[in-house]
Amino acid sequence: MEEYLSQLNESQLQAVTYSEGPSLVIAGAGSGKTRVLTYKIAYLLHQGFPPQSILALTFTNKAAREMKERIASIVGEQQARRLWMGTFHSIFSRILRSEASYLGYPSAFTIYDSADSKSLLKSIMKEMQLDDKVYRIGTVQSRISNAKNSLITVKAYEQSKELIEADQHSKMPLIAEIYKRYQARCKQAGAMDFDDLLLQTNILFRDFPEVLEKYRRFFRYILVDEYQDTNFAQHLIVQRLSELHQRICVVGDDAQSIYSFRGANIDNILQFKNVYPGCKIFKLERNYRSTQSIVNAANSLIHKNKEQIHKTVYSENSVGEKIRVISSYSDYEEGYVVAGKIAEMRMAGTHYTYSDFAILYRTNAQSRILEEALRKRNIPYKIYGGLSFYQRKEIKDIISYFRVIVNPHDEEALKRIINYPTRGIGETTVNKLIAAASDNEVSLWTVLQDPAAYKLPVNSGTANKLNAFRELLESFMLKNDQLSVEELAAVVVKETGIVGSLFQDRSVEGISKQENLQELIKGISEFAELKLEEGAESVKLADFLSEVSLLTDQDNDKNENANKVTMMTVHAAKGLEFKNVIVVGLEEDLFPSLMAKDSLRAIEEERRLFYVAITRAEENCLLTYAKSRFRNGQSSICSPSRFLKDIDAEFLDIPSVASTEDTFQSKRAEYQSAALSSFRNQTKAEDVFSSPVTAAAQQRVSHLTKINDAATSGGNVSALNSNLQPGCRVRHERFGEGEILQIEGTDANQKATVLFDNFGQKQLLLKFAKLTLV
Ligand code: ATP
Ligand code: MG
Repeated sequence: MEEYLSQLNESQLQAVTYSEGPSLVIAGAGSGKTRVLTYKIAYLLHQGFPPQSILALTFTNKAAREMKERIASIVGEQQARRLWMGTFHSIFSRILRSEASYLGYPSAFTIYDSADSKSLLKSIMKEMQLDDKVYRIGTVQSRISNAKNSLITVKAYEQSKELIEADQHSKMPLIAEIYKRYQARCKQAGAMDFDDLLLQTNILFRDFPEVLEKYRRFFRYILVDEYQDTNFAQHLIVQRLSELHQRICVVGDDAQSIYSFRGANIDNILQFKNVYPGCKIFKLERNYRSTQSIVNAANSLIHKNKEQIHKTVYSENSVGEKIRVISSYSDYEEGYVVAGKIAEMRMAGTHYTYSDFAILYRTNAQSRILEEALRKRNIPYKIYGGLSFYQRKEIKDIISYFRVIVNPHDEEALKRIINYPTRGIGETTVNKLIAAASDNEVSLWTVLQDPAAYKLPVNSGTANKLNAFRELLESFMLKNDQLSVEELAAVVVKETGIVGSLFQDRSVEGISKQENLQELIKGISEFAELKLEEGAESVKLADFLSEVSLLTDQDNDKNENANKVTMMTVHAAKGLEFKNVIVVGLEEDLFPSLMAKDSLRAIEEERRLFYVAITRAEENCLLTYAKSRFRNGQSSICSPSRFLKDIDAEFLDIPSVASTEDTFQSKRAEYQSAALSSFRNQTKAEDVFSSPVTAAAQQRVSHLTKINDAATSGGNVSALNSNLQPGCRVRHERFGEGEILQIEGTDANQKATVLFDNFGQKQLLLKFAKLTLV
């Protein structure tokens, strides 16, 4: 038997090696479902399936990356690289790009994020003169999104009595019309939103049987992780692709279905055996992740749900500590208690590092107070989710330039940059432009190219400004074909004047924007390096844009391996594991959420979410709640979450009331004064830092100028690689250690062939690979 298969238990092995028909692995948290999927792919490769014939769908890009790395260590990098592995959105956007012409989209279509969709919806509602107090933007957006995820096209929506009546009932009878205009405008702009990526794939496969046929033949085995959180659109794509050969394996856990608010449908996993008759079901029962206490506590919790498939989950790891429940007087104190616990556990001789800790919360808004407490104690942390790096205003403004260069019809991006940096094109002009485009059913860009032909009512001064703007963009488009992606990025920030305007601002906020700009440029060059290292011939701006527009909450992490405490929402923690997990804010109306209060179904989903939270922990799990919390502008009294009572008391360690009170009475003064002083410090930060900031800013200006110069002059090739010889042991950031077998080429083209201990043989361009001698 292959060595890697011995790393599986008997039931996992059976699931991995079964390939006679469709299969479903349904099992509790930490039982090795993801491991089964990973090893099954390696197994299929050994069985002779070509890597490009295997389609593996994961919930995040990060999960795909980790799986790929593991597979590479078993079968080698060459094979792993050619697998079709990624999120539904990234895989199918790739397919849509090659088949875009069938659907009447450009292959360089833009992907609108949620903010772009919102902005477009707002402008449509304004044109229709709808009252935004009646037509709440969030509601309109989610109705359209739900329709798309259930594969209800504009036409189907208009014909659905049920939907129209529901809209009338909620006093928004024109949602169908908004949906229609929204789709038309997206198409005009050559843009798809996130939901379109799935909807349009379905339309493609429905209306063009020859295309479906091609991909059916192409993908000979289909695997899906976290199947319990797929929506109807995803389910149908998978079903269409696997219909003929039935070579499909999905894994999931109905007890971890937590995305119904985004249209995920638990029925997809529950009905799997009906949709795929003859499907073989595998159950895994042993949890390898967590201590017995954690597994037993989680089991006792999830048993309180009525709707669930019964599962046995046990652990043979050590019994471990009970789950600790800690209360505090306020949300501020909770922050300090959490920070204190982390510091204490690190010191307790257990040699935990910061990255062994995760703090999980129900809502992003909870992170601020926790961050403050961690900073106060000098505990390094990283936050996933929330406003992602690429959503920040200054970053999005620059990205919008890139988007327009790649697809000039992109309306949302064009609107963002037309007067950024200010060039005297005011709102009135922009509105005229939008109206002209809308009247003629063309894009803004089309009007810009010939304003007179579209009777744009502007004076000659404004016409000149519009003209200059168009010429600037056209010059970038021309350069897009000639320059590398980093070079182009440098040119854009320089020639638009963005660098100039950002670097004049010396405020704390301004400095942070400059840092973000540098981070962006660094991100682009790292992206390009990685792609080149992976064998791409050239890296284009469009590739970078595709990548950033498909990032998920878990993918935000810039320095994955850094020794920092992880902070994220429970939703984002799905599939992950940490030695120590602290779940905060276990209070009624927060966890479970206030919105779930009146519905049993919703409460059960919140309970599943709590189950996900607890089962992330390997060794220790702490649960905290505050007795008062500042929310919606006022401090209110909170009561402990009902979920705390759902866990059998024998698995919990709840300090007796008296001792809790004692501890907190004695520490209270300390916590409160710390909380107060950090509150005051916030307002003072600017004074305290003002002088070093100016110096730092100057340093950064000169640094950025260097980046610019290097980029425009074609990049500096370092001579640091001259010590590298065949026979040397080296280390690579991603592939770890290995031995140099051969060096060839000269200067910029110098390549090394390295045999990595875990990743096999790879050829690397030295100017990018950053090898260090070990
Ligand atoms: P979740 O439901 O949270 O997604 P999962 O069922 O996908 O969990 P995995 O993440 O695959 O579980 O596995 C949990 C942990 O147990 C991982 O660290 C994995 O490496 C380990 N593990 C799984 N199976 C085995 C095994 N047979 N031997 C040793 N370790 C294992
Ligand atoms: Mg998993």
